[in-house]
Amino acid sequence: MKVTKFGGSSLASAEQLQKVLNIVKSDQERRFIVVSAPGKRHPEDTKVTDALINYYNHYINQEDTAEEKKWIVERYRDIATELNLDLTIIDTIQNAIEHLATLPIENNPYLYDTFLAAGEDNNAKLIAAYFKENGLDAVYLHPREAGLFVSSEPQNARLLPMSYHHIERITHNRHICIIPGFFGVTIDNDICTFSRGGSDITGSLIATGTHADLYENFTDVDGIFAAHPGVVHKPHSISELTYKEMRELAYAGFSVLHDEALIPVYRAKIPLVIKNTNNPDHPGTKVILKHEDLDLPVVGISGDDQFVSINISKYLMNREIGFGRKVLQLLEELNMRWEHIPTGIDDMSIVLRKRELTPEKEEKIIDYLQNELHVDEVDIERDLSIIMIVGEKMKNHIGITSTATKVLSEKNINLEMISQGSSEVSIMFVIKTQQEKEAIRALYSAFF
Ligand code: ASP
Repeated sequence: MKVTKFGGSSLASAEQLQKVLNIVKSDQERRFIVVSAPGKRHPEDTKVTDALINYYNHYINQEDTAEEKKWIVERYRDIATELNLDLTIIDTIQNAIEHLATLPIENNPYLYDTFLAAGEDNNAKLIAAYFKENGLDAVYLHPREAGLFVSSEPQNARLLPMSYHHIERITHNRHICIIPGFFGVTIDNDICTFSRGGSDITGSLIATGTHADLYENFTDVDGIFAAHPGVVHKPHSISELTYKEMRELAYAGFSVLHDEALIPVYRAKIPLVIKNTNNPDHPGTKVILKHEDLDLPVVGISGDDQFVSINISKYLMNREIGFGRKVLQLLEELNMRWEHIPTGIDDMSIVLRKRELTPEKEEKIIDYLQNELHVDEVDIERDLSIIMIVGEKMKNHIGITSTATKVLSEKNINLEMISQGSSEVSIMFVIKTQQEKEAIRALYSAFF
C-alpha cells in the first residue's frame, strides 16, 4: 500500500488534476492521497495559501474582505468548471471560505492556522468530488477522522505520539481517502498547522501510521538533482539516495522536501520516492535506508550562501580548559545557532548563517571575546558559502578530497575551511560566495 502526496504545483489547475487522477487510477495501491492547496499556475501567480494569509490580514484589521474571498472561491470554481464538476462542491467551498470571516478574532490563537488550513481542506473536498465523478471510490477524510492529533503550537504543530494508534485505524477504510495536508487538530479540536510547506509532513505521518510500503511524494521535478539546475546545466536526477544523504543535500540548498518530513518515515524504515506529476513514468529519486548495490561514492553536490565565520585566535588555546564552552555558552545566551566549528591548535572558527549574527550580537560577542576571554585576535569573515560533496559510500573510497581539491585549485578557488563529520557522509568546504557557482560546476564535472 502506498501513501501518495501531491504538492501545490501538481494541483494548481484542471489540467494538473487530470494528471493526478491518471496517476492515482494507474495503481490500486495508492490508497491514501494527501493533498496541498492549489499552488501557482505560473511564476507570477499567487498560491491559495498566500491568498488566505491576505484574507486573514484584511479580516483581523477589520477591512473589507469581499475581494479576497472572491479570488479564493473563484480559484476553486475555475478548476471545477474546467473539469465539468457538479458545482454543488463550490457552494460547499464558498460557505467554508466565507465562514472564516465569522470566527472570533480575540482570544483565538488558532485563527491564523484555521485560515491557512482552508487551502488544503477545500482542495481535498474538491479532489474527492472529482475522483468520485470519474469512477474512483474516493472519500474526503478530515485530519480529525484520519487521527492526526497534534500539539497546541500554532504554525508549528507536532504530532502527538498517541496519534499513530489512531492513524492506524484508517487502514480499515476501503475507500481511496483524500486527506488534506498541512494541519492536524489539537486535543481541544482546534485546527493547528505545521510550518509552511507542511503537507509533506502529513504525508510522512500518514505513511508511518498506516505502515505503508512506500511514501510517494509527487512534485514538479524528476526527483532530486545531483546539483542545482540553476547552477549546473541539466544535472541528472539521482536515482537512489539514503536518508542521511538527503539530509546533507537538503541542508545546503536542496529544498524539494520539508526538513521535518523525513524523520517519521526514516524511523519507520519506510522508503520514500520523489516523483514528477508532469512526467510520472520517470522513476524519480528513491530515498532509502541503505544502498544495497550502488557503489557510487558521490551522489550529489550542493552549495548554499549567506554564511559568516567568527574567527578567533588565542595563543595556547588548546591548553585552556573551558575556552570552547565559554564561547559556546555566550552563543547560547544570545540564542544563536551555529553550524560548524573547525579548529586549529590556537584557532577556533564558528560558522553560522548570516541571519544569526545581528549587529548587536556581533558587538556583544567581540566585546566578550576581547575583554573577558582575552583572545589575541577576532575577526568576522563575511560573504561565505558552503559547498557539500555528499555520499555515504565515500567512507570506502580513497581520493575523493584529492579529486575535489585538485579541480578547485585549477579554478583558483581558495578553500577557507574544510570539514568532515565522523560519519563521512559529506565533505564540506567553506569558500567565498563569489566563487560558489564556479566551484559547484567544477565539482560536478569532476565527479559526474
Ligand atoms: N500550502 C502550504 C504552504 O504553502 C503547505 C504545503 O503546500 O505543503 O506552505
